[in-house]
Formats: sequence, C-alpha cells, structure tokens
Amino acid sequence: MIQPVVALLLLLLLIPIQEKDIYKERREEMVRKSIERRGVDDKAVLKAMRTVKRHLFVPSSQVEAAYEDHPLPIGAGQTISQPYMVAFMTEVIRPNPQMKVLEIGTGNGYQAAVLAEIVKEVYTIEIIPELGQSAAKRLKTLGYDNVQVKVGNGYHGWPEHAPFDAIVVTAAAEAVPPPLLAQLKDGGRMVIPIGSTSQTQTLTLIEKKKGKALTTKLMPVLFVPFTGGDKKE
Ligand code: SAH
Repeated sequence: MIQPVVALLLLLLLIPIQEKDIYKERREEMVRKSIERRGVDDKAVLKAMRTVKRHLFVPSSQVEAAYEDHPLPIGAGQTISQPYMVAFMTEVIRPNPQMKVLEIGTGNGYQAAVLAEIVKEVYTIEIIPELGQSAAKRLKTLGYDNVQVKVGNGYHGWPEHAPFDAIVVTAAAEAVPPPLLAQLKDGGRMVIPIGSTSQTQTLTLIEKKKGKALTTKLMPVLFVPFTGGDKKE
C-alpha cells in the first residue's frame, strides 16, 4: 500500500504537469473552434496561435477566461484582442519569416508575440507607458528577442526602422495616419480598423501599390480608440 505521504508527494508532482496540459488543450480547442472553423487557414498563423500562451498575457483574474473567444480587460481601460481577430489580422498581412512588421497598440503584447512567432522582426508602439513597459518586460521574459517595444504615439510610426513589409494597427482610427502609409513598403499590406469609435468600425486592408493606397473593406469590428491624435510624444 502507498504511504499517504508518498501519495501526497506524487499528487503535488502531478499538479503542474496537469496544469500545463489544461492550457495546451484549451489553446487547441480555441484554435479549432474559434479560428480554423471560422476560415483562418494559414498554417504559420495557426501554428503561432497554438504556440503563444495567451494565459500569460492576461491579468491573473482573467486566466481562466484566456482561451475564450472574446476580448478581455487588461487594465488602463484597454483590452487584449479577441483570439480570432488576432489570427485573422495576422493572416491578412500574409506573414512570412523574412518580414519586418510594425504594430500600433501593443497592449499586453499578445499580437506582437503571435507576429514574432512567424516574422523576422516586430516593432510595436504603445501610447500608455505602463502597458508598454510591462509588455516589453513580458515579451523579454518569454524570450521574444525579435520584438522591440516603444512607448509613444503610434500615429508617427517608427521612422528609424521604416520601411515595413506590413503594418498592423490594433486601435480604431478615423483615417489612416499618413506617416504609417509613408512607412509601408511598396507592395506592403496594412490592416487597420477604421471608423467612429463609438460605433462599429470597419477592418480595412490597405495595399500600397506604386505609392497609391488600395483599400478593401474586410469586416465590421469593435476596437478601442486610437488616441493621441497627431500629437508628437
Ligand atoms: N495589440 C493588442 C491590443 C491592445 S488594445 C493585443 O494584442 O491584444 C489597443 C491598444 O492600442 C491599447 O493598449 C491602446 O492604449 C493602444 N493605443 C491607442 N492609441 C494608440 C496610439 N496612438 N499609439 C500607440 N498605441 C495606441
């Protein structure tokens, strides 16, 4: 018969292993039910969504809800985007391992981590200093060495690292900020929610061809507002 003490020790050893599996299973279910079933089929995107531990990007009070398909509060009145939306927007830019991508609206860094799993370099800008700083720390701790975080107004982009192969904007703007279009490579793709922030906005694809912007409306969405106007940081 196993001694009660031994049994207890075995149980304690098993708990962390089981916990790990729970989140892996939930992530798998999230990808199958909320992402693949809704039409995202880029292999690299699906792999990244299966890899990034979303529960490490939400506040501790939200961990249990981390793999449900909706946005979650992350503090400072901001949200971590819905998993399907992150996957969809990542697929829209047609990511590949050679790309340099700019993200506006780091939040907790989840979208940046998903991008970093696929592309070569990610530059991401967050206007709320506490969020930007904690995202930078989190991404570093998790080993995402190919992501650089800057605190500032993303309206002006990151000219020192331009041009970018793609730009992902995760806050809703009234119109495409001209500096972002200028920093997009010719042939590059930008995905951005456009519209009045109190109503639904339209997720929009901008393709830059011979200096011109081709616009395609993708779907109605609801994002937090793009703040700061065109003010310099
Ligand atoms: N990309 C995040 C989504 C965060 S929500 C994710 O993966 O979940 C959008 C973020 O955009 C918020 O944190 C908000 O503070 C930020 N934001 C809004 N306006 C901005 C601006 N002008 N420049 C940079 N970040 C901005």
